[in-house]
Amino acid sequence: METIDTLQGHSWQSNGTDKKGIRGFIILYKASRLFCRTSMAQPLFRTPKGTNDTLPAYHQYMTYIKKAVRHRARQAGFKRIDTPTFEYRAIFERGIGEHTDMVEKELYLVSTKETSDEEADLSLRPELTAGICRAYIEHGMQQLPQPVQFYAIGPVFRHDRPQKGRYREHYQFDFEIIGLKDPSLDAQLIHLLTKIYNDIRILKNLRLQINNIGTGENRLVYIEALKEFFIGKERNLPPIDQGRLQTNPLRLLDSKEEDTQIIIKGAPKLAQFVDDDSRQYHDTLCSYLSALNIPYEDNPHLVRGLDYYTQTVFEFWDRSAGAQNAVGGGGRYDGLIELLGGHPTPGTGFASGMERVIWQMKEAGVKVPQKDQVDIFVAQLGPDAKKKCLTLIAHLRDKGIHTIGALGEASLKSQMRLADKFDATYALLIGKMEVKRQTIIVRNMKEGKQEEIPEDQAIERVIKLLGEGSLDTYTHRDQMTPEFDQD
Ligand code: AMP
Repeated sequence: METIDTLQGHSWQSNGTDKKGIRGFIILYKASRLFCRTSMAQPLFRTPKGTNDTLPAYHQYMTYIKKAVRHRARQAGFKRIDTPTFEYRAIFERGIGEHTDMVEKELYLVSTKETSDEEADLSLRPELTAGICRAYIEHGMQQLPQPVQFYAIGPVFRHDRPQKGRYREHYQFDFEIIGLKDPSLDAQLIHLLTKIYNDIRILKNLRLQINNIGTGENRLVYIEALKEFFIGKERNLPPIDQGRLQTNPLRLLDSKEEDTQIIIKGAPKLAQFVDDDSRQYHDTLCSYLSALNIPYEDNPHLVRGLDYYTQTVFEFWDRSAGAQNAVGGGGRYDGLIELLGGHPTPGTGFASGMERVIWQMKEAGVKVPQKDQVDIFVAQLGPDAKKKCLTLIAHLRDKGIHTIGALGEASLKSQMRLADKFDATYALLIGKMEVKRQTIIVRNMKEGKQEEIPEDQAIERVIKLLGEGSLDTYTHRDQMTPEFDQD
């Protein structure tokens, strides 16, 4: 008798008759097919360029960050809001600006085979602020006590050139304070974010950059001055920047073109056009940041790419990579709600990219708790044992013990192998004998030791072995209304 083992650990046996050669060949053939299917198969489809699957190990980071975000948001009176992942395109064109990169190049348009005229102008959201402001207007939130404070967590979409830390779909957490203007609100917002970054242990690797870019009117005057400066110099600009000079001259300031960078050195500076009120506002904000012990760098070159910003803008930069890898950024947008059809209403906000935050955490060696471990694997043999297992599993789970089991009809031996692969701490075994004797075998998977105990003591024993502290219990600590309580 001979055995052929495949990579899977399965074995086939041939009985040594004269058909041995043919059988052996068939077995080898089947084994190689299985090998190809399991080990060498190329997926037919992959994620679209610039997107990622969020796999369970990565989710442990996401969950950890979301917890910190929710916790700090609640402490500071922010409420969760979710807006659709797609909106009318005009919201972004008006708010963010038609001639910004985000709208001009990066918007994902949405259509279906049956797209109606009205729906023809939908696009995936490239950021969260504009949609939240649309919701503020649509739901009459100016009637609420002001300011209204929101936070949101969700995906945004930008048709960017994919590279490290730059994806076409990424996740952001976002905070907005709408309806009141005061430097103390900008300071509180920045403070809250330093708290979150500190909670997830990346604050020490970041530095806060801050600037005041003046009011919308200041910027209009500045744009005129820029245009005037470029009269007679247009021909020295590369074609792309000649176009920008016509549509959005501010974009020349952060142009990557070498010729433009040289010319722009002699151009008037935005700071010269910022009015006294804005300067005063900025000085007060900086004094508040100092009072809160938040280190910052005053950066007159920081402008941020979107049209809706007014006065305060800020970003948290990686200490070594600088602006290339802003981990978060935001600012004041006092004209946005009016642009979207609401009453003039001030606002300030911030967004941070989850993927870049996680990258920072990994760089800093931050380990997040792994909460998906399997505590107990329940193995069974025979229909009666299986039925018993189902109730046992349900009770264990109710107690907060991570339990899997009652998987298929395999032999006890192969169920044990599976328990090992799932990295279970203990296995509970119920075979035909145990059903008869009303017992359960508890096996320590690491040490290989086992004991047989009465079945009605199993849960108590498992809790003792695992320790009360490791139970994953889910409780509503808050009082429910009486009608709910009866359920
Ligand atoms: P922004 O409004 O462009 O400053 O984006 C806010 C934050 O989102 C940034 O500070 C980054 O953390 C993150 N972010 C922006 N664009 C991307 C992208 N393409 N891929 C991943 N994260 C991004």
